[in-house]
Amino acid sequence: MLGAIDSGLFTSYRGKNRASWARESAARRKRLGGQLAALAHVELSGPDARVAKLLREKLAELGTPAVAGVAPGRCEDASRKDLDYPALNQALVACFTGIANILQFEGATIDRASALAQLHQIAEPARRKALFLAFLPLWQAVNGEDAADSPYRRLVKLAAARAGESPIDAAARTVGATRGEIEAWLVQILDAWRAAGDDRMVEPWDYRFEIGAADRMLAGRIPLDSLLAIDHRYYRDLGVDLDALGVLYDVAPRPDKSSVAYTDFLIRGRLRGGRWEPTVARVLASYRHGTLGALNELVHENGHAAHISAIRNRPVYVDWNDTLFVEAFADVPAWSLYEPAWQQRYLGAAATERDSLRALYGSVLLDVAWALFECRMLRAPDSDPNLVWTDITSYYLRITPHPEFAWWLARVQLVDEPGYMVNYGLGAVVTAELRARTREAIGSFDTGNPRWYAWLSNALLRYGSERDTPTLLRELLGRPVSPQALLTELHRMAARGQPLISAAD
Ligand SMILES: [Zn+2]
Repeated sequence: MLGAIDSGLFTSYRGKNRASWARESAARRKRLGGQLAALAHVELSGPDARVAKLLREKLAELGTPAVAGVAPGRCEDASRKDLDYPALNQALVACFTGIANILQFEGATIDRASALAQLHQIAEPARRKALFLAFLPLWQAVNGEDAADSPYRRLVKLAAARAGESPIDAAARTVGATRGEIEAWLVQILDAWRAAGDDRMVEPWDYRFEIGAADRMLAGRIPLDSLLAIDHRYYRDLGVDLDALGVLYDVAPRPDKSSVAYTDFLIRGRLRGGRWEPTVARVLASYRHGTLGALNELVHENGHAAHISAIRNRPVYVDWNDTLFVEAFADVPAWSLYEPAWQQRYLGAAATERDSLRALYGSVLLDVAWALFECRMLRAPDSDPNLVWTDITSYYLRITPHPEFAWWLARVQLVDEPGYMVNYGLGAVVTAELRARTREAIGSFDTGNPRWYAWLSNALLRYGSERDTPTLLRELLGRPVSPQALLTELHRMAARGQPLISAAD
């Protein structure tokens, strides 16, 4: 509730303002703390003992300030050689938030996310190049002259030397594989994309435009004020009535609003007196244009809303699962937007199958490239990041080498938590697995399928955080996770010269 008020969605809810919600939350935490203390000497059953342990952990987490003892970083400090990992990390995140929100382009400022979106749209190559080069001050602040002691290169060395489980090992464990196996998967996926393309090289500032043909063709079919209606119609066809679920939307641009879209609990559902009091989700985003990309993001966010609304479990488990699973699940409906059959039904026109798949997988493959980049950097932290990135992107994505630019620096996660991008690369593997398994069980759902929500709720969603991702995936698939489903999708693009799939489903 406090998060919803702080986001600017409303100033009071159910008759209480921020201060009274804060008082209520503190009072409830205190009461729970007392109850847990009283349980310390009670013999609990296995499941109850686990719940008590989780509640103690959550309570401790809530009691700790988000950035305990670490002052907000300053980008200027990134050049100091004496910073430890948390301090350097904070400084580099500050470079991203500071510089990337005020890039200079054609005499105006533009933020990082809008700039990347514009690179799909701008028709003139010279303007695309100018917009690409608007990132230079960011690259300079984070990676200097790409020397061995550049701020980013010091950060990677510190990250690789850290104790405890690395984000890469954690992501690998989530899908039941080893670090070596996932690195091999990422290479296989990149190889499949390379095999599906032609031999033409494109400049880095042209890559997004090259994969953006479907977005450009369909943009005129998606008026800004139709985004929610199209999204809701698709979900209704999937058996999800978002209006009945009471999801709250905060999707109009507003100054000082988060530039990142997200979905969260407003009210957590619970069983009271034998009746389920439903979860209420809220979706926050900022839409200025109706584009396929914007619609894709909205459908993804509503995937989160449908997910948390389907949880039926004791209160402690009415919560998010692992990030990797959560993000991969939200893309299960969102990837359908890049099927011509979906476009024909919901937009009344369709791009070719090849353009549609290139739009989707061209973005997915950038995530896979970043995942491999981080695997390689953290395995050999003395490597030159510009060269590692150039090697990957020139060979697999056929992007002209520009080792003089640190153009891999487009995502804040790279400095916020080196290794984290692996979650996105592997997330695509899991999304493809979930889509293939769902299709196998209930049939195609690209143009709707009334069994979709009930089947997925029962198979995956109702447990909430009680079941971890390895358990959920093992039970759903009946075998270990594999990159095969994603590889099969990429092979669809390689079938060149074949007649395009007709719009009729
Ligand atoms: Zn998400």
